[in-house]
Amino acid sequence: MEKTQEKGGIMSIIVQKFGGSSVADAECIKRVANRVVETKRKGHQVVTVVSAMGDSTDHLIDLAKQVSKNPSVREMDMLLSTGEQVSISLLAMAIHALGEPVVSLTGPQAGIKTDGVFSKARIMDITSSRLEKELDEGKIVIVAGFQGITIDNDITTLGRGGSDTTAVALAAALKADICEIYTDVDGVYTTDPRLVKNAKKLSTITYDEMLELASLGAQVLQPRSVEFGKIHKVKIHVRSSFNHEEGTIVQEVSDMENDIVVSGVAFDKKSVRFTVYDVPDRPGVAKDIFKTLADRSINVDMIVQISREGSLNDITFTLDRDQMEEALKVMKEVIVNIGAKDVTCDDDVAKVSIVGAGMITNFGVAADMFDALAEEKINIELISTSEIKISVLVRKDQCEKAVRKLIEKFDLAEESIQSIE
Ligand code: ASP
Ligand code: MG
Repeated sequence: MEKTQEKGGIMSIIVQKFGGSSVADAECIKRVANRVVETKRKGHQVVTVVSAMGDSTDHLIDLAKQVSKNPSVREMDMLLSTGEQVSISLLAMAIHALGEPVVSLTGPQAGIKTDGVFSKARIMDITSSRLEKELDEGKIVIVAGFQGITIDNDITTLGRGGSDTTAVALAAALKADICEIYTDVDGVYTTDPRLVKNAKKLSTITYDEMLELASLGAQVLQPRSVEFGKIHKVKIHVRSSFNHEEGTIVQEVSDMENDIVVSGVAFDKKSVRFTVYDVPDRPGVAKDIFKTLADRSINVDMIVQISREGSLNDITFTLDRDQMEEALKVMKEVIVNIGAKDVTCDDDVAKVSIVGAGMITNFGVAADMFDALAEEKINIELISTSEIKISVLVRKDQCEKAVRKLIEKFDLAEESIQSIE
């Protein structure tokens, strides 16, 4: 889209997204309206994406469960997409009341085309002509987050938290200067500030680090929005809708000047550990286990094979608590087929990870991590590593102690470590 020349300067396009907590009631909506108008009056073209008000998506899901044990996914998407339609129209009315030209558009009206996978559809294409037309007429455009339409004209939703992805995708399609994600936290922190009160706010973070932190439980952005941002190089600014402080910029290269090796500590208390005992040591056995799990869409995380003397091994792996029952059922069949002795699962564990793009070029990070945990007498049960992440599995009741210690070790707190629990 051509950027319009105005008052001698290039007018920038800003995509802003406000989450459910920022539009939870009429007062909140009016506050968001002011904020959007403020941006417009600074001379920008503004596209604003909103989520459904407060917990309304959860309420709609509850309602569906009351009428059917197993609601059709198509109808679920039809239902859930209404939540965002409420907030876009109300926000447009509030902006109108402030005297600015504005129009609200559903995902389909905004040209957001998705595949046909109901409840977790992927954006395939955005036809931005309608959006461009409205912007060129000087309007603020409000777009419903989390939804799109298939080529068969069925309404789809993008998975929980999908409004983030709507915003980043629109920013990519419009070649916006920035995608601002307004939320109820001030930015991305070195760890969950609910656990470590003086966790530091990061001024920048790379897409890869953000993906690791998001998938490890720091739920600030929907992971898919970060992937989208990475592919299309969309600069994402995560900031609070309750103040005007700078938040955290997610972009390709973060601020490496001060040599930050570890950017954050993530933890996941929903990990469960499976162990398969006495697995015959022959080619194809690991395939039999993990292919069977993959075929049932069970996502495996850490994997370790413990080779023993003789012809038997133990294989241990972790997955999410939500898939534990199903995985156990599957594994009971698998061990019979491969001739292993037994399978157990243990949900009394937690995964703790340090994440940092700077690890690629720095030695000794793992040693520092293990040293810190040893000092606290925390036993490590499993270890896994990637280029920018080291994860360990520990007993669940040691998770918080581990996180605090690592925050201290890698200098990731504002001052001294305090717990609010
Ligand atoms: N309203 C949807 C949800 O609650 C989408 C979003 O908030 O981003 O998941
Ligand atoms: Mg959200």
